[in-house]
Parts: sequence; structure tokens; C-alpha cells
Amino acid sequence: MSNDRIAREGTIRLQFDYAAGDVAGRAVAAARDQKRLLGSRCERCDRVLAPARSLCPGCGHATSELSEIGPGGTVESWTAVPGTGVFVLVRPDGADTAITHRLAGAGAGEGDSRNPRIGGRVTAVFDYAGLAGFEVVES
Ligand SMILES: [Zn+2]
Repeated sequence: MSNDRIAREGTIRLQFDYAAGDVAGRAVAAARDQKRLLGSRCERCDRVLAPARSLCPGCGHATSELSEIGPGGTVESWTAVPGTGVFVLVRPDGADTAITHRLAGAGAGEGDSRNPRIGGRVTAVFDYAGLAGFEVVES
């Protein structure tokens, strides 16, 4: 018996439905239908969570209340993925946590003047499906 590795390269297409739940579902619907960003508020520790979620990761308390956040935000970190684009970690105004999303219209090349800056300002960009990403408003 041979110990040679046998590998077959291929692509698997996987269609799925994602159940966001009540709290995140209402936030996703607001982004899609009203072009608004909503975070969930933890009533126990008073943090506003972005993206909205049903449980507070800080204290484990269930959330039910939504709070307006953004559309502006501050870049906490970013990375360029060659061939894919730039991704930013953004803390929307009024939120205590951050969202990772695509940076719209970025160059991604090292030294590209369109790249974001940590501490720089961005704003949410929406499309028919909801939040499509963020774009730099000040670098
Ligand atoms: Zn909490």
C-alpha cells in the first residue's frame, strides 16, 4: 500500500439560509429596508453591541432593545487581502464594539492613498441587501 497523498482539487458550492434571530434580524431588516445601522443594547451593562446580537458577550445577558448607531464610525484596524479587497474593523458612532466589513472603493495596495487609517473616519455604505461595507470619509 502506498503512503502517497491523493488529493483532488475542486470547488464546493454551498447554499444555505442563515437564521439571524429576533434581535439581529430586526437590525438586518433596518439596514436593508431603511438604510439604518442598529446595535443591540445590553440592559445589564449598558453596552451597545455592533453588530446587533441576542446575547451580550460581556455579561451574557439577553438583549432585546435596539439602538441607533453610525452611520459614521472609527477604524480600529484593517487588512488588505490580495485579490479580495480591504476589510476594516469599524466601531460605529454610539457603539461599544466593532463590525468587520469590506471597505468600498479601496485600492488595497501597500502605500495606496485610498487605504484606511487606524483612527480614521468612515461611513456606512448600503445596497439593496443592507450594509454593503464602509467607505473612507477622512484619512
Ligand atoms: Zn452586558
